[in-house]
Amino acid sequence: MPEVKEILDLMEVKNKKDEELITKAYEFAKRAHEDQKRMSGDPYFIHPVETAKILASLGVDAQTIASGLLHDVLEDTKTTEEGLEKEFGSEILFLVNGVTKLGTLKYRGHQRHVESLRKFFVAISSDLRVVMIKFSDRLHNLRTLQFLNEDKRKRIAIESIEVYAPLANRLGMWKLKGEMEDAAFPYAYPKEYAQIEEIIKDHKALYDKNLSEVRRELEKEFVKNKINIVKMSYRMKHKYSLWKKLVKREMDIEKINDIVALRVIVETVEECYRVLGLIHSIWKPLPGRIKDFIATPKPNGYRSIHTTVFTGSGGIAEIQIRTREMHKEAVYGVAAYFAYKEQNGGKNLNEKLKLKWLEELNALNYPPDDPNTFTEKLKMDFFNDRIFIFTPEGDVVDLPEGSTPIDFAYSIHSDIGDHISGATINGKMSQIFSKLKNRDIVKIITKKDAQPSSKWLKYAKTTLAQKHIRSYLEKNSLLKRLRSFGKK
Ligand code: MN
Repeated sequence: MPEVKEILDLMEVKNKKDEELITKAYEFAKRAHEDQKRMSGDPYFIHPVETAKILASLGVDAQTIASGLLHDVLEDTKTTEEGLEKEFGSEILFLVNGVTKLGTLKYRGHQRHVESLRKFFVAISSDLRVVMIKFSDRLHNLRTLQFLNEDKRKRIAIESIEVYAPLANRLGMWKLKGEMEDAAFPYAYPKEYAQIEEIIKDHKALYDKNLSEVRRELEKEFVKNKINIVKMSYRMKHKYSLWKKLVKREMDIEKINDIVALRVIVETVEECYRVLGLIHSIWKPLPGRIKDFIATPKPNGYRSIHTTVFTGSGGIAEIQIRTREMHKEAVYGVAAYFAYKEQNGGKNLNEKLKLKWLEELNALNYPPDDPNTFTEKLKMDFFNDRIFIFTPEGDVVDLPEGSTPIDFAYSIHSDIGDHISGATINGKMSQIFSKLKNRDIVKIITKKDAQPSSKWLKYAKTTLAQKHIRSYLEKNSLLKRLRSFGKK
């Protein structure tokens, strides 16, 4: 039987109250699931404990971990909503209820996919923690798939790769995304998985040798130059994403430089650049392989500096440099931003997380009987790259990549859009035609007599902004005609 201590040990920060809450949830779930067994023959209780352990290792709060322990009690045990609320309060009831609703799917086949996604959208827009619990639950189920029959196994594995992983990616939770894909990979595509395993086996020894030398050398240099490192680790590319990359590169492993990478985590951005300078003073960088995603983050928000260096004797190594905060973002995704804000006395977390695109998507009714339309729409509306733009007050507006302050203004209010006279981006005066980047903080300056011009149409990316500009222009030219008519 697992122990509550295993969960507590995984938590980075905790106080006495957290420990008491988790211990209480542990005892409650253990009693509730007593006598139940998993397909593997193990006591059922192992599953909620493992789910809670995954959550604890992600660094989420105690309420979420406790809800992870309790996530199956409403569905699978005699516990009632009233009973759960009486013991643990309304917040935990809300989280467990959210996960339960995500879990009960009545449909099969394509309809099931659609339904599953719609439920996810509801959950995401109500509280991201529900989704994190569901992902952790799914991850543990994926890791124990061998006990299910082949049909069910394959269905769950493919659903995880096609629905869960893109969602996690979309939310910036790359760690969970990679882990879910890798756990599902061998069951979803067994042949391809075997192929990847073979390739890795052939090359691993060489990578290990190369990187451990680089690591040793770097450790010495960091001490000599008094650079404080939070952590240095060795990361292997996730197998599923390696396979996808290999397919793109004609299955030529030599064309992929980042199968393994050394990851250096420091406290500050300034230290990131110091580390980069130090690395380049020891080893020559490969031309064109220095990528500064701190200065210019990827559209999905990813931040880090990557460089690939010649390590002598023909070897090359990729090194990734980032701060502790950036590292945390890779786990939390969009939730990270709000988590930090919360600590600084920000507004209600759930209110903030009501992302516009999710609300819009929620309202959409995809025709479940037409798989092609569904997939098309899904790609267009959901998986295309989007950027998150902030108001100076910290509110979020979600826009398609390539949007400008014009789109931003109209998404706040048509009246603001119709009177834009200028904009500041991250505090600097900027063109209203500038392309926005993820996480920009944008302030729109309005003037009473400012008005849209037909040039704006060229720089408005969203249909919403275009619609408003067009209708303004039409109204205006009509007014002019009327006025000139009156003069005659
Ligand atoms: Mn479960």
